[in-house]
Amino acid sequence: MMGSVRLFAAVSPPLAARRHLAEALERIRAADEPWRWVDPPRWHLTLAFFGEVAEDRVPSLVSRLSRAVARARPLALRLAGAGAFDRPTRARVLWVGVEVREDDPGLSLLAARCVAAGRRSGLAMPGADRPFRGHLTLARSAGEERLDAREVVTALADYRGPWWTASELSLMRSFLGPQPRYEVIRQWMFGEASSERIAAHRRPGDRRP
Ligand code: ATP
Ligand code: MG
Repeated sequence: MMGSVRLFAAVSPPLAARRHLAEALERIRAADEPWRWVDPPRWHLTLAFFGEVAEDRVPSLVSRLSRAVARARPLALRLAGAGAFDRPTRARVLWVGVEVREDDPGLSLLAARCVAAGRRSGLAMPGADRPFRGHLTLARSAGEERLDAREVVTALADYRGPWWTASELSLMRSFLGPQPRYEVIRQWMFGEASSERIAAHRRPGDRRP
């Protein structure tokens, strides 16, 4: 039987942005034990979630994604504000928001193109019917539990991280477990048509400095 891989496309905040946010969280974390916090090295901004992808669909997805990324341009981003899904009074996911300088539509455009790449590769695209809301998942509740996130959302409402220029998209594989693990399958620079060839020489897990 053919296997499948669990895939998503994401933008990774640089080290400076991670450090800044980790520091801001230090005070908040201790007071909120019921949350399962995501480790800073695993933080990412998901642009599209592909779900379980049959192995024979991966080549189509990879080539369509590389073309979508070739049309993107670098974007100035920062982490800003916070919220909770479904809502702060009954939360399962706690997140920090992302701000795009001058409301550049490039981020949501790239997200939409990644979703389209998935659909054209025959994927069901679970959850992609909802409008794109850029966020970085900070913590999840245990199991199906709903938590009161009002205090922590309020504490982070004014959070503003340092600006950075996003210029790279990663296709990530997810391994579910008590602590989910991610692996980089491919990386492409925005606007670089030849990047697929470059990325193909990189092994999963390799990171750019
Ligand atoms: P876990 O599911 O064990 O909590 P996880 O959510 O980090 O771990 P995945 O479920 O594989 O791992 O998700 C990978 C990424 O895709 C995460 O950023 C997650 O928030 C996002 N994601 C997962 N499911 C959906 C969905 N239905 N719609 C949009 N994004 C999703
Ligand atoms: Mg999940």
